[in-house]
Amino acid sequence: MAKPVVKKEYTLSERIYLWEILKGMKLTWGHFWFNFKACWRPGPHTIPTCWQYPEDRTREISPIFRGEHMLQKDDKGREMCIACGMCAKICPAKCITIKKAKRKEGEEDKYAGKTYPAAFEVDLLRCIFCGFCQDVCPKEAIVLGQEYEFARYTKEECLLDKRKLLLNYRRAKEEGKLRPPRKRVPVVPAPPKPEKAEGAEAKEGKAAAVGKAKKKPVAKKKVAEKEE
Ligand code: SF4
Ligand code: SF4
Repeated sequence: MAKPVVKKEYTLSERIYLWEILKGMKLTWGHFWFNFKACWRPGPHTIPTCWQYPEDRTREISPIFRGEHMLQKDDKGREMCIACGMCAKICPAKCITIKKAKRKEGEEDKYAGKTYPAAFEVDLLRCIFCGFCQDVCPKEAIVLGQEYEFARYTKEECLLDKRKLLLNYRRAKEEGKLRPPRKRVPVVPAPPKPEKAEGAEAKEGKAAAVGKAKKKPVAKKKVAEKEE
């Protein structure tokens, strides 16, 4: 059933309207003077003006910005991805494809894990940059970097294969734009099991013995019935 519309009772100042205009003007002037004064403060990011992009690229990107993907390597230069497939599984856009391979002998200096991705593809045209893949990765191998200029002309260029993903990592490392390691949530140990009192243990043992004794005649009875 539709709700009855209750008409608002306006006050005298609201009906005159002038007071409301003055209130609005006060807010506008407040913002104007705040921005005007900020123009004279030192520091590039305090000036509330438009950024003259692409001529001016000095603007700092937020450290949590999610840009183009990269596959990270560890300190020894080994690929960190173990091809567990968790990123592909959680991806809501289903844009990650992984082909798993086993590490052979002598490849320990190339791959950190016993398995590695022989092929790793991210389809940027389908990606929604939610960041689930980097959040779920147990090795922090896949990361969304700070690269935001990835407009391309063809669909093929938007398909990031493993080579491109590793290249993105190398570029970010050279430019000092690597994401700092994630903060790990400390694992809380499980509380110890309460110790059973001696009396309770004895009672339990007794109950089990009684249960067994009760079950035995039933089983015997069934066997006798079958023989008949
Ligand atoms: S990037 Fe991470 S989550 Fe994805 S397959 Fe590699 S190790 Fe697993
Ligand atoms: S950012 Fe989101 S949509 Fe893009 S690949 Fe990762 S999980 Fe998939």
